[in-house]
Amino acid sequence: MAIIYGLGICYYIIAILYTIQEGRKRSIGFIGVGLLVFCLPMIGMFIVESLSNTKAKGCKWCGNKYNEAEHCGLCGKNEQGAVKAGFVPRP
Ligand SMILES: [Zn+2]
Repeated sequence: MAIIYGLGICYYIIAILYTIQEGRKRSIGFIGVGLLVFCLPMIGMFIVESLSNTKAKGCKWCGNKYNEAEHCGLCGKNEQGAVKAGFVPRP
């Protein structure tokens, strides 16, 4: 029995860390990730992983609305308009 409780505690420690990390970038947010991970142990994590992952912020400089990275893939700028070091714009 002790092993089962130990594994359960380990899972919830991982689940809390997972929620903090994934809640920041997933479109469903902290509450959505937390509910899935805690109500559906293990399965919830797979659901979160399969969800339309990151929040696509888009790029306000060139209108690339599918940009998910910090620096835009088309113009290389971040939110402050700073171009990524060594970025070569596509023709
Ligand atoms: Zn851009």
